[in-house]
Amino acid sequence: MIDQLKEIQQAFTTAAAQAQTAEQIEALRVEFLGRKAGRLNEVLRTVKTLPPEERKTVGAAANAVRLEIEEKLETFLRAAQSSGASDVPAQDLTLPGLPPRMGHVHPLTQVFDELMSIFTSMGFMVYEGPELENDFYNFEALNFPQDHPARDIQDTFFIKTPITRAEKHSFPTDRGWVMRTHTSNMQVRVMEEFQPPLRCIIPGRAFRNEATDASHEFTLYQMEGFIVDTDITIGHLFWTLRELFQQLYKKPVKIRLRPGYFPFTEPSYEVDMSCLFCEQKGCRVCKQTGWLEMGGSGMIHPNVFKAAGYQAGKYTGFAFGMGPMRLAMLKYGIPDIRLFMENDTRFLEQF
Ligand SMILES: [Zn+2]
Repeated sequence: MIDQLKEIQQAFTTAAAQAQTAEQIEALRVEFLGRKAGRLNEVLRTVKTLPPEERKTVGAAANAVRLEIEEKLETFLRAAQSSGASDVPAQDLTLPGLPPRMGHVHPLTQVFDELMSIFTSMGFMVYEGPELENDFYNFEALNFPQDHPARDIQDTFFIKTPITRAEKHSFPTDRGWVMRTHTSNMQVRVMEEFQPPLRCIIPGRAFRNEATDASHEFTLYQMEGFIVDTDITIGHLFWTLRELFQQLYKKPVKIRLRPGYFPFTEPSYEVDMSCLFCEQKGCRVCKQTGWLEMGGSGMIHPNVFKAAGYQAGKYTGFAFGMGPMRLAMLKYGIPDIRLFMENDTRFLEQF
């Protein structure tokens, strides 16, 4: 019986040398000290059958073995936990920390920032203005005839201001306030405030009363720019636009001015840029034409200078407007304009 106990002691020492994790140590405890099938208990059960004088010595020896095993198990368990091999990992303070989750600058903001840095390097000032605008600056001062289709209720958000007590029988439906339909509303505001020579860009939002789809949003971002000085020509306009696109897309591009129509410029041009994707061989993005439509431009109409109160015939200038959303879509290959406004972090995290 005593030999059997020594055997158990020996077996435990051998097995314990292999055990490393908390699970393995727990398995040892079940194997040796378990109530039902534990090896020590098997011996203790037979103690009863022994003669009384033998029972005492064997019982004491068995108890000593049990205590020793329990003590060793406890020591092993503590060692396993502090070495990190257990299922509850201890902290290793020498490991590098997890990087904090960083925010991203919205792709549209990135393009605006880049445009502003390009233009300010060319001596332009950046100016902002009201989104709720009156008819004068949004239309009248920009030479929009009263019956111009852009004033039509289909395209413009007209603002109905609350009717006052004094007006309650007259029902004024139009106070002449609109959500600005373009950032061009700032042209005459800036001209009134500053005298030429003037170089100015106006980044901002504009609003159109229209349904949204993959290339239309009712809130759109625009960047207006204009120069007023003496002897400004189309050549200056052409150079400025080409320089802008080359710096923005970081490759040489060609520019093409097509005749267009805007009430506040004469002559007016649609601006095309050589396709960035196919070297003008024709692709899906440029609809096989080799050219991409980039915005509108032209020489500032004399009526705009007149509205600003400038001396007739003294100044010339050019103006242009473009959509930073479109510029960003081309720069980053974004297929749908609605992605800019949805604030889906899966989209925003890519920039
Ligand atoms: Zn192309």
